[in-house]
Amino acid sequence: MQDYRGRLAPSPTGHLHVGHARTFWIAYERARAAGGVLVLRNEDLDPQRSKAEYARAFIEELRWFGIEWREGPDLGGPFAPYSQSERSDWYVHAWRKLYQGGWIYPCTCSRKDLAEAAQAPHESNDEPMYSGKCRGQKLQVDRPTGVNWRFRVPDGRVVRFRDGAQGEQQYTAGKDFGDFVVWRRDDVPAYQLAVVADDCAMRITEVVRGCDLLKSTARQILLCEALGIAPPAYYHCDLLVDERGERLAKRTDALSLRALRAKGIRPEQIRENWLGLRIAGDAKT
Ligand code: GLU
Repeated sequence: MQDYRGRLAPSPTGHLHVGHARTFWIAYERARAAGGVLVLRNEDLDPQRSKAEYARAFIEELRWFGIEWREGPDLGGPFAPYSQSERSDWYVHAWRKLYQGGWIYPCTCSRKDLAEAAQAPHESNDEPMYSGKCRGQKLQVDRPTGVNWRFRVPDGRVVRFRDGAQGEQQYTAGKDFGDFVVWRRDDVPAYQLAVVADDCAMRITEVVRGCDLLKSTARQILLCEALGIAPPAYYHCDLLVDERGERLAKRTDALSLRALRAKGIRPEQIRENWLGLRIAGDAKT
């Protein structure tokens, strides 16, 4: 069997809250139980929304919380660099493989979803279904710059996978999601492409993350197929929700690790019952 390699992949777009801490704790425990390696990856892909101070903060807060990783932006490691803003060569390489294989097309539509493509779609920011208007467009280039690129999904294709926590999953391309963005015209790769390229390059064997990313997993499996790589195993955790049943957001400052720590609350107390917050398994988006 392959040695277990897991990852923590926070985006430095705000302070981590107790919901992140729970997912990352599960990732840590799974890596530890398997006697494997945990990698910390700084997903600072989106230059407009990422801030170095949040990356410094998550390193400090995760460590305070008791999570240990073996490779990361702070420690280095065999697959450095561990910050996405420094990994554009890997993304261009993946883009080129998709381009040469005829899997993607240039899209000249200007839409709001393009601005959000560098972010993982956790909330209502999932990409709207694209009409396919630019399907069939072609462009001779050797770099992605200057135009948006979309992955052409095989309409009607059912993507099935077994999730370690949520069981059997299936999503239909062209119905549950449409042709998704892989590269923005301002030269920012999309989350979906970057995460697949990085998980492959860093030899991640299991992806542990929140269950609001289940549908993204279906997209990522299609990207893996197109790139000719074996997808990792997936384990999508249930999410903590607030009293209204809504997913915690980075802006819920009272539940940030930073605020809890400042109040003198210990990590063990948080882990005892996750502050009494509800856990919802149906928070699919
Ligand atoms: N960086 C993403 C986020 O914090 C997580 C992506 C993933 O785990 O695949 O939203």
